[in-house]
Amino acid sequence: MKIDLTNIPLEGKETKFILKPDWWKPDFGENRIMGLESPISAWIKIYPVGKKIVIEGFISTKLLLMCDRCLEPYTKDLATDFRVYLSMSPFEGELEIELLEDDLDLDFIDGKFLDSDQIIKEQLILNLPMKNLCTIDCKGLCPICGCNLNTARCSCSSRNETFSNVS
Ligand SMILES: [Zn+2]
Ligand SMILES: [Zn+2]
Repeated sequence: MKIDLTNIPLEGKETKFILKPDWWKPDFGENRIMGLESPISAWIKIYPVGKKIVIEGFISTKLLLMCDRCLEPYTKDLATDFRVYLSMSPFEGELEIELLEDDLDLDFIDGKFLDSDQIIKEQLILNLPMKNLCTIDCKGLCPICGCNLNTARCSCSSRNETFSNVS
């Protein structure tokens, strides 16, 4: 959805919407998110403060993530709010928009429009955990045969010990 940023009323513009699970596409370039287990419910409010524009939002969904250790998919609830400040100045008939924070880029602004899909995509990625683990004590994959040590047992580690005794 594109939201025009040039005529925001003083009381703000508010919008609520739902994005279906198939909205998330593999080509979004974030392979840690394998998909969505439930629709995204989103709320965005845009309002002016002086010469600035504030974009506030809330999103909640259930993500399908890939465990960093065992590479199996698992689900994780995500609910987060965000606030982004923009400064806008008219420049030779055009609009110049500047983001007042460093940790985001302006990909979610398209000319004088806010691209709500893009800002939600960025917020989902920003809110991923540093380490994705299916369980806190995930045993991961056997480095030798690659079996999932959470569900299978292999004899690699005992063989490994034999090797190290020899050397
Ligand atoms: Zn795991
Ligand atoms: Zn093994």
